Amino acid sequence: MVRRGWLVRDAMPGAHNVMREESEARSRGVCYCDLDGVFAPYPECWLEFIEVRTGRAFGSLDEAKQGISYADYVRLKNEYRSSEFKYSLTPRAGSPEFTRFLIQEGWFVGIVTTRPAGHRQLLIRTIRWLERNGIVFDDILFCDNKVEVVARYPELVFGVEDEASEANAVANLGYRIFLLSNPGDTRGGLHHNVTVVRSFEDIMEVLKRGPGAHENLHRQ
Ligand SMILES: [Mg+2]
Repeated sequence: MVRRGWLVRDAMPGAHNVMREESEARSRGVCYCDLDGVFAPYPECWLEFIEVRTGRAFGSLDEAKQGISYADYVRLKNEYRSSEFKYSLTPRAGSPEFTRFLIQEGWFVGIVTTRPAGHRQLLIRTIRWLERNGIVFDDILFCDNKVEVVARYPELVFGVEDEASEANAVANLGYRIFLLSNPGDTRGGLHHNVTVVRSFEDIMEVLKRGPGAHENLHRQ
């Protein structure tokens, strides 16, 4: 049985692909990257899966939720989570370069996902997908919500998200978040700790400029 906030590193030796001492890994600080939408394309991949399975094309998650019964939506989502479809996706451009940059700069990189960790197979496939695509990390955290990330890494310096609601939730706790822009997703407003970026390159630029640069970028 997998508990909430399960750290793969604790329970599954070898489930981190950067081999180094904990103290060395944390020299610069801890950062986390959300998995779906940041590295794995989402929701495009999920909408495509729905189309393949139902023959109906939806332009957004909201449309899909309105167009399919709740029971069918949940059933399809479970199917999708264990499908080969999900594990053959191509990651966002620059994913391997970005994670290698973070590791080389001395950041401890946690990958965070709300994918259900209850199935060991699903977990192993997630890790294999990351490795196959050259995405490097120190740790993977399966959790129910992003507040658990902060409980696990209280010394967190920044995080990377693709959804405004998730970004705001962590930013509200006093942490910096880079939000990979998702048109139409910022209607509710953003917390001042959230910086909108267009690509991994943007984040690397800010990090290279050092402490303080983050706020300056946000005010522009
Ligand atoms: Mg996401």
